[in-house]
Amino acid sequence: MLIGERVQYYLAKFFPTHRLTHEKGYRVAIFHSIESSHNFEEIIKFLRDHCTIIRPDTGIENHKGQAGECPLVISFDDGLLSQFTEGLEVLEKYGIKGLFFIPTKILFLKSPEEEMDFAVKNIHFEVPKNLREYRFMKPEMIKELHDLGHVIGSHSVNHVRFNGIDLETAVYELEESRRHLNQLLGEDVKFFAFPKGDRKSVDPGILPLVNKFYTYGFSAIRGWNNENTPRCFLHRDPINLYYPFDFIERILQGSLDWYFSIKNRYFLLGKNACNL
Ligand SMILES: [Zn+2]
Repeated sequence: MLIGERVQYYLAKFFPTHRLTHEKGYRVAIFHSIESSHNFEEIIKFLRDHCTIIRPDTGIENHKGQAGECPLVISFDDGLLSQFTEGLEVLEKYGIKGLFFIPTKILFLKSPEEEMDFAVKNIHFEVPKNLREYRFMKPEMIKELHDLGHVIGSHSVNHVRFNGIDLETAVYELEESRRHLNQLLGEDVKFFAFPKGDRKSVDPGILPLVNKFYTYGFSAIRGWNNENTPRCFLHRDPINLYYPFDFIERILQGSLDWYFSIKNRYFLLGKNACNL
């Protein structure tokens, strides 16, 4: 595990707090590369045993105001090929519909070299440790996911960080990626996830733009989503395939939510964060 993940692991282990399960709302898990379908299946089985996995589209609407045992959406970032080759069969086996966030530049990459270049410069900002992380899905695969009932969302065009960029660039990244996906899928895309998605990668002034183009915007900041969570910057919980099960269990129980709400207390300003 990375150092930051180790800190979270020990915090969750030694300061466990349980979120009351009768509270209304839902969580969203984020996956990146799926190195092995076997490993992914074990995690999906664990998630199914501890939570109710809900559909991204109708599920979020239904669970906003409904109590339940940890309703959970499964999301994927970056349009990585392994999500299609290793992840899809597991989702289909368990009847799960995922939410896939695509940086739409990948729709136009023509060769493995171009993919590698985009992965290094735009996705990882370094040479990826895992070779799987520099191959992306082809447009027809994204279309196939959509046709199977999975939900496709935008992850900007170029996987830019939305901090320190001018308004014009931010609008381009939001609007153009939506246009690319609408054209590919033949319907309106409603979901957006900020690349990187932490506090340092998003300028709060950009947040009100999100709901101009999308119904829902997502961060990568851990937490529980309820009616007071800003609809332009909903929480998501990164889950890596190498996480120990006791860590995943704590994440699902909300053991780290207090830590992230303190860390982001000046940033997450409630519902009003989305208003112009
Ligand atoms: Zn990303």
